[in-house]
Amino acid sequence: MNESTDTRIDLLRSKIATVADFPAPGIQFKDITPLLACPRAFPTSIELLEERVAHLGVEIIAAPESRGFLFGVPLAMRMNVGFVPIRKPGKLPREIHSVEYSLEYGTDTVEMHSDSIQPGQKVLMVDDVLATGGTMAACCELVEKMGGVVIGCAFLMELTFLGGRAKLPDAQVFHLLEEND
Ligand code: AMP
Repeated sequence: MNESTDTRIDLLRSKIATVADFPAPGIQFKDITPLLACPRAFPTSIELLEERVAHLGVEIIAAPESRGFLFGVPLAMRMNVGFVPIRKPGKLPREIHSVEYSLEYGTDTVEMHSDSIQPGQKVLMVDDVLATGGTMAACCELVEKMGGVVIGCAFLMELTFLGGRAKLPDAQVFHLLEEND
């Protein structure tokens, strides 16, 4: 029998370190490396994510590099669906689709292989942290540009005070942990 959800969530919370002023002054960085290093907490995070999204009818999972891969890949394996990497420019060797998005200073771009999503395919998006939502919004736009249907966005942690979910398309947003300030 599974431990209760609350007990499992508490375990995850205990394995996230908050580092002040990294990588820039004023940022409270959520360090997931203690969670990854814990043989109980890491699989528990994947198990809980699956429980949250099991009803969606996910056909494929897409996640941005690099921390999105850490959760997207094991979740895809657990759910018996494929995985599509979303990458920074210049990493994918074949024909790509791309979306450019704004950062605080300048722009960034996300790319996927053009044949990685089939039109109409139900896609679950995964990342470690939802902050301002800029990255995930661009990833969703990319999937939709290729004809995929974003049916949900799942995160280990949502920084709700940054309001990132308002930038995401009309899909359900899931998190296991949240920070309100
Ligand atoms: P976002 O502002 O939502 O576009 O966040 C961009 C990416 O940076 C996300 O994929 C997160 O992995 C990472 N990120 C943003 N803010 C934090 C934070 N406070 N702690 C850890 N990772 C973060």
